[in-house]
Amino acid sequence: MKVLVTGGLGFIGSHTVIALFDAGYTPIILDNLSNSSRRVLTQLTKITGNEFEFYEGCISDRALLSTIFSAHKIEGVFHFAALKAVGESTVQPLSYYHNNVSHTITMLEVMAKHNIAKLVFSSSATVYGDPQYLPLDEKHPISATNPYGWTKVMVERILQDYCTANSDALAIALRYFNPVGAHPSGQLGESPNGIPNNLMPYIAQTAIGIREQLNVFGDDYDTHDGTGVRDYIHVQDLVAGHVDAFKHHVKDVGFHPYNLGTGQGYSVLDMVAAFSQSAKCTIDYKICPRREGDVASNFADASKAKQYLNWQATHDLKAMTDDSWRWQTNYPKGLE
Ligand code: NAD
Ligand code: UDP
Repeated sequence: MKVLVTGGLGFIGSHTVIALFDAGYTPIILDNLSNSSRRVLTQLTKITGNEFEFYEGCISDRALLSTIFSAHKIEGVFHFAALKAVGESTVQPLSYYHNNVSHTITMLEVMAKHNIAKLVFSSSATVYGDPQYLPLDEKHPISATNPYGWTKVMVERILQDYCTANSDALAIALRYFNPVGAHPSGQLGESPNGIPNNLMPYIAQTAIGIREQLNVFGDDYDTHDGTGVRDYIHVQDLVAGHVDAFKHHVKDVGFHPYNLGTGQGYSVLDMVAAFSQSAKCTIDYKICPRREGDVASNFADASKAKQYLNWQATHDLKAMTDDSWRWQTNYPKGLE
């Protein structure tokens, strides 16, 4: 069964391509390379022994989408393509609304024209805004604290309305908590452009000497050690959730949101300690003021995915930091 993977050369999309291939699907990749490299294709072949069909271009390119949908019988679209830097989204909100929301609408229109009615959407725990209670379940009110978060809220809303209006449409919104780790082969991982915004790549680059010191954003939160607590999930668990969700709902219709998290929260200093063990080195850090917009704690109630998809995370913190470190040491500067 052929599926289209938008953003399939990015961090999560590329790992999903492997998981889909391993599960017997034929993933076709569409990516505009705005935050990834063609070299990912080489790595995908190295890991799987398979050559994947790749289209370079934007999800809003109607002609290109029509070419893809005419050339292949696509059963569903796994939609990862998006801009994802929270800070950048506050400075360039229009680019974010354009790329993440308008372009998704265009893609949905072309999908509809070609009778492709199934979509798996990369949503985020950011759609819960400031948590009103923990752990966060799917019934928690939806909100956002920055333009990037609003793009996820908006696309979820659009997908719900689309499914209500089209009785044959299926949209699965997977709300990721904090994806980390890398492919266990050490051949694929996250390679952020410039200075990483996220904790794990920042720690990894500090451990290898690219960054001098980790800035820990606040140690006066109401958490066990004062630093922020998050629900880190191994990318391999995350992508398994996509395959499970698609398999479960493939003959279904409607809008189905799921949390993909472990339910376990770790603090910034827990992460530093775990990474130090994997990298067998001390990770230098300094305590800085809180980062604007951060919350003290955020972790998932992932019981819905367990109940309906029979999915749960199996990789522990050690696997997350070991695999990140293997990738970081193999490709200190990413794939470039
Ligand atoms: P990524 O930047 O590594 O991957 C996104 C890919 O999409 C990139 O390869 C980029 O080149 C491509 N892309 C962007 N806009 C495009 C467009 N208009 N047309 C075609 N390709 C385009 O990001 P990621 O970490 O793999 O994230 C994948 C998805 O998961 C995104 O939707 C992101 O918002 C969501 N998400 C990520 C995280 C996280 O922490 N990584 C957390 C929650 C949700
Ligand atoms: N964090 C930090 N230093 C960094 C990056 C992040 O202390 O350089 C903290 C951040 O304040 C939060 C946690 O690490 O408590 C996870 O942040 P990240 O940006 O990775 O993910 P978020 O949960 O904000 O999406």
